[in-house]
Amino acid sequence: MYAVVYSEPQTGYTIISSDLLDTIFIAGALYYDFESGSLCPDSSPYSYADVREYFTPYKTHPFMQGFEKYTDDMIQDVSGEVIHPLVYHILTSNGFNQWSNSVFADAEEVNTFIDGLKQFYQDTGAEEFLKNSSLRQDMLAYLPDAAGEMPIAEYLHEMEVYVGNKERLFGNANLHYYNLITPFRPRMASFYDCILDQDIYFVAQLAPYSFVDGSLDIREIVETSIHEYLHLFVNDLVAGKAELIDTLTKDLNPADYTSQLYIDAGHPWNRIIDEAVVPAVQAGIYRQVYGDSERAYQELLVKELNGGIVNLDKMYGALSIYEANRDSYPTIDAFIDTLIRQYLQRSDEVQLPSEGSKENPAVFDMTDPDAA
Ligand SMILES: [Zn+2]
Repeated sequence: MYAVVYSEPQTGYTIISSDLLDTIFIAGALYYDFESGSLCPDSSPYSYADVREYFTPYKTHPFMQGFEKYTDDMIQDVSGEVIHPLVYHILTSNGFNQWSNSVFADAEEVNTFIDGLKQFYQDTGAEEFLKNSSLRQDMLAYLPDAAGEMPIAEYLHEMEVYVGNKERLFGNANLHYYNLITPFRPRMASFYDCILDQDIYFVAQLAPYSFVDGSLDIREIVETSIHEYLHLFVNDLVAGKAELIDTLTKDLNPADYTSQLYIDAGHPWNRIIDEAVVPAVQAGIYRQVYGDSERAYQELLVKELNGGIVNLDKMYGALSIYEANRDSYPTIDAFIDTLIRQYLQRSDEVQLPSEGSKENPAVFDMTDPDAA
């Protein structure tokens, strides 16, 4: 169901590509008549003219008839609720006995979807098209050597040590860090988990391109992957803070705190907060790997601040307290309230960490997070 592009047995980090994933994104682009900003977008530095030309005659294929329910119209994309079971299928080749979400009422609907996708793949001759696609070929030629040059094992190890909550969240399961990579959804990245008994696959689904100039860019692939993996250590934790979040956000306008992209996507407050906590924590991880605070800040946080996410500098500063006091904060769980408060403070409010001090006043009085 998939091809291994690169793998690092030591960490379980694996880059894979999948014809079925490429095909569903192409079908989505076709559904939007190649005018979607997410799928095979025409204005990119890379060209999808060959995709458009080849697949346009298949717009009336039976699989395309009921396609609307598989889409996320807000961002003209294929719904993540559709991709999630597809990722399971790609990893396992299995059909479904149970599954339901906002798109699929039951397992039978998922199986029908996958059968329809495979029929579309077959009838369109997608296998041959994908084999000859220059975007695919360039990506596959680039990745193995480029990935081999990155300190991926070090990043992943430092990530697990930094958050410290792996055991609480996942017990003794074996974690496998996967990238499911496609050239046909160049500006978006998503994360999925896939639990198979004692093996948990964290799948960062992304494109191989730089968000800045569209070039093939392994550094950005790895950065985006760590970002996506971190979501799986952070999101449930933040969602569990509903009461605190409700209290703090009562009079706040989300547009003052985050990127328009997340407003358009209809993210609730907890997901908006995730998108600030994750880059801040990632910068903390890179600070450990590089041993260089300014470099981590410049490489990871400046672009997010420019993208409209506020107070990342405050969160990053506060994390130096976390880093220096891991006896008091064995896991990121113990520090999450502080991060949320740092993020949601108003720009005209100077907030010293006194509110978080209820947990641990002695530690908190040691350092002014804004000074770090
Ligand atoms: Zn994110």
